[in-house]
Amino acid sequence: MIDLRVRGGLIYSPEAPIRSDLLVRDGVIAALVGPDEEVTAAETIDADGLVVLPGLVDLHAHMRTPGYSHKEDFRTGSMAAAAGGYTTWVDMPNVDPPTTDADTLRDKRELALEESLIDFGHFASGSNPETIAELAKAGATGFKIFMIGGGYPHDDRIAASSDADLWQSFEAIAPTGLPCLVHPFNQALFDLFSEKELAAGRPRTFHTRAEIYTNRDVVWSSAVETAIHFHDELGVRLHLLHTHAVGSIARIRAAKARGLGVTAAIDPKYFHLTEEEMQRLGPRSYHGAWITGDERRLETIWNALADGTIDIIDSDHAPHTLDEIAHMNVDAWKAQGGSPQYDDLLMVLLDDVNRNRLPLATLARLLTENPAKLIGHYPNKGSLLPGTDADIVLIDMEKTTRLTDDRILSKAGWTPYQGRNVKGAPVRTISRGRTVARDGQIVDGPEMKRRARFLGGVAQFKDRSACRPVRDSAS
Ligand SMILES: [Zn+2]
Repeated sequence: MIDLRVRGGLIYSPEAPIRSDLLVRDGVIAALVGPDEEVTAAETIDADGLVVLPGLVDLHAHMRTPGYSHKEDFRTGSMAAAAGGYTTWVDMPNVDPPTTDADTLRDKRELALEESLIDFGHFASGSNPETIAELAKAGATGFKIFMIGGGYPHDDRIAASSDADLWQSFEAIAPTGLPCLVHPFNQALFDLFSEKELAAGRPRTFHTRAEIYTNRDVVWSSAVETAIHFHDELGVRLHLLHTHAVGSIARIRAAKARGLGVTAAIDPKYFHLTEEEMQRLGPRSYHGAWITGDERRLETIWNALADGTIDIIDSDHAPHTLDEIAHMNVDAWKAQGGSPQYDDLLMVLLDDVNRNRLPLATLARLLTENPAKLIGHYPNKGSLLPGTDADIVLIDMEKTTRLTDDRILSKAGWTPYQGRNVKGAPVRTISRGRTVARDGQIVDGPEMKRRARFLGGVAQFKDRSACRPVRDSAS
């Protein structure tokens, strides 16, 4: 008996879009069949005119729990994600206590199993070489290293603040075969440039800081250079985050051309928010304005997305309260920066597709297949192949939405894209065969209790020759 038939949609598979019906049994994709195939199904969803993608897989969540649950928790964060088309999230270790050993990892997993609506994993801190082995054994999905410090959310307790720290972390992580995500950042240069600007009498506002943090290419690209070099020496499976500097993109492209196992992600706030939005909306939309004002840099980013230099679009879903980010205007060096993304991000990106900035097939790979491969859960996640989890998102490419705070399910309750009109929206999210969100609303019930599964670490890269770019690895 088939539980669910998704009828008449246009399915985006890695090769080419196909018009086919999806059959689901026991939370798993049972088969793809033609529209005329006679099958008895308990439920049929009409997907005529809709695009069918694998549920989105995000490798950059900040669920803020434990420690900062006034910003977000596993329930609200997973609701926002599900409504936004995601069926898998993996979060970062900068919580309180930070995820630095087996106990903190287990405690966090237990909380998330209780609260999350959808499947998930946890990246543990990779900055403490002495606990790497126990974290791998306890099931960490991978590791995250912050080369940046300076205070929460860039918690100094888990910062790798020197080359020696980074080297020792890579050395400890490489034998686990797990992915190592790095926020590349030259903290010493950033501190130097900051000191000079502030000594010259510039105000401590976001504008002064962003000219260094966002605009000084060398602050990012020199760290990317070091991380790639250490990867080449030690063989750790390196995945670089926040890839938006021209110099970083050039170095990653060159490393891939040499056959190194380096992948990269970008989070869209960096190439989406505009100066106009910054003027109109203030701190909530600060992050990207300088980049979208720089045509050469924007073009470099779009080209890197199109040619596979950037492998993954992640969310950096990073909620804070509006009061907290307002501090950006007072002292940006001590303020907490970041924005909730899950509710709106896919719509912003579908709007890009509708504006011909990138093809839907490319976007699908960046949001589903590539992230699932990096954590070793492809094709069970990130595909619609028979025998894999029935994680599905149905998309209406014609639907228009005005992005406003009142629609937001994230506990933070606001969107950095406030007031934008976008075309293209997820209309239904299915997690292992069960509808969890429809038209931006959560479909909840007692049967959803403790339904989420934890995606533990899969050792893929112990053999150095297996450290190849995601797009070239066997599927
Ligand atoms: Zn982040």
